[in-house]
Amino acid sequence: MSILVENVSKSFGNQIALENVSFQVNSGEVAGFIGPNGAGKSTMMKIICTLLTPDTGSVKVNGTDISVCPLEIKRKLGYLPENNPLYPDMYVREYLLFVGGLYRLGRDRGRRVDEIIGVTGLAPEMHKKIGLLSKGYRQRVGLAQAILHDPDVLILDEPTSGLDPNQLVGIRNLISELGKEKTVILSTHIMQEVEAICRRVIILNKGRIVADELAHEIGSRIATTFRTIVVEFQEDPPEDIFYQVEGIDIVRKLKNGTLLVQTIGDDDIRARLFKTAVSHNLVILSMHQKEKKLEDVFRELTR
Ligand code: ADP
Repeated sequence: MSILVENVSKSFGNQIALENVSFQVNSGEVAGFIGPNGAGKSTMMKIICTLLTPDTGSVKVNGTDISVCPLEIKRKLGYLPENNPLYPDMYVREYLLFVGGLYRLGRDRGRRVDEIIGVTGLAPEMHKKIGLLSKGYRQRVGLAQAILHDPDVLILDEPTSGLDPNQLVGIRNLISELGKEKTVILSTHIMQEVEAICRRVIILNKGRIVADELAHEIGSRIATTFRTIVVEFQEDPPEDIFYQVEGIDIVRKLKNGTLLVQTIGDDDIRARLFKTAVSHNLVILSMHQKEKKLEDVFRELTR
């Protein structure tokens, strides 16, 4: 199922939360929403889930405007809200049966709940009260309630916040698996998460989209800004000679025998750097051009 957001704006009093936001996410795609706090991520997610109405613009799920039939849309949509609100006094299985009732799963409810308990790895904790669960397991309960009715679209607001590294891997694998068939939008503060599971990256800043690209292509966004090269020498080199190389902006000693060199533009200066080293009888052991990371792009675009 595709999600098409067109020219959505939303304000709370004087506070502009979203300004003319447009993007599309297709079926079988996991799209990552990233942006500083207050960028408008949660507001956008709530609008897609029909929990907030945009001031202007529209959201279409599979070509149907969500304002026309919000109930029908809600049936096709699973939502994990920020901070994952749950009922702490309910038992895990009891809570999921309750949610299944809300979705009118009928006679199939018990079987489906057990299936989802298996998928989300909740079996060892299913007889506990939710309030007694660790953060990781509570997050799993949140995910379980979001996917219980087998929705085509999943909207996950910071699904991995507060998880330890082991729990992170489990939840990420689960989301990746779900993303093969469903349309998934998730928000996160963790850049590695976007790199690990998202095909698309949508960066929001101050209510506006500042980047919307395939995750593996986003590095080229700042390709023209600079390159960073780490050079390892056999012996400790003098730094000043490299400032004479055309295109080099910064030379910094990382440790004995290793320099970090940053260029002014996107020029590949490695050959010039090599020649300069040779002309000063310096032996280069390795030269490694650092990949631009999503984190660099994020900082550049949301500064
Ligand atoms: P994010 O999820 O990227 O952190 P939000 O969508 O939560 O951002 O918030 C965007 C902006 O809208 C923020 O400045 C926030 O304070 C404001 N905002 C969100 N919800 C409300 C609300 N119900 N009332 C007033 N301001 C709100």
